[in-house]
Amino acid sequence: MARYIGPVCRLCRREGMKLFLKGERCHTEKCAIEKRNFIPGQHGKSKRVRKVVGYGLQLREKQKVRRIYGLLETQFRNNFEKASKTRGITGETMLATLERRLDNVIYRMGFGTSRSQSRQVVRHGHIQVNGRKVNIPSFLVKPGDVVEVRESSRQNPTILAARDATAHAPAPSWLDVDREGLKAKVIGQPRRDELTQIQINEQLIVELYSK
Ligand code: SF4
Repeated sequence: MARYIGPVCRLCRREGMKLFLKGERCHTEKCAIEKRNFIPGQHGKSKRVRKVVGYGLQLREKQKVRRIYGLLETQFRNNFEKASKTRGITGETMLATLERRLDNVIYRMGFGTSRSQSRQVVRHGHIQVNGRKVNIPSFLVKPGDVVEVRESSRQNPTILAARDATAHAPAPSWLDVDREGLKAKVIGQPRRDELTQIQINEQLIVELYSK
């Protein structure tokens, strides 16, 4: 399955809620959900909203979380499989692993305005972890790691503009962010209550994949 490259606001409209996929635009009245919150497509507006239950509900929850983090189905599934083999509550472990991805960490640090922009920042080789360049968005950070913008990228306009645009957004407590120094230290594990602005019922995903 290829990565979705169509208009991202359509994904939010499909889920009927803001998934915050577009950076700063999501916080303005230009957001498509603010303007037209109905299912995309010819009949979206007239379609009766049916109550989704059972399998459909589980599927929608999975799609929602997969889209928030911008993963392909196989990547998302692999992430789940790993979480299910780890000690602890599978759903929470799954979400914590998604949070520990380097592209998400850059987003949480505020050096990308969306996860997709943060992924580009990583891919383009602007980031180092513990002094070594890492350009793999799925790289998982752990407590003690130091994530920073590389010396040669400290004037990168995308990163600096993102830092300024996200100045209002507090970093989660598991990241000790030095915004001026363009770096952060991982000081704990992601906390469930800080995971996202969007309500997630991860148990539905566990049920879906456990069938
Ligand atoms: Fe588009 Fe962001 Fe609004 Fe979603 S939340 S519809 S990505 S502007």
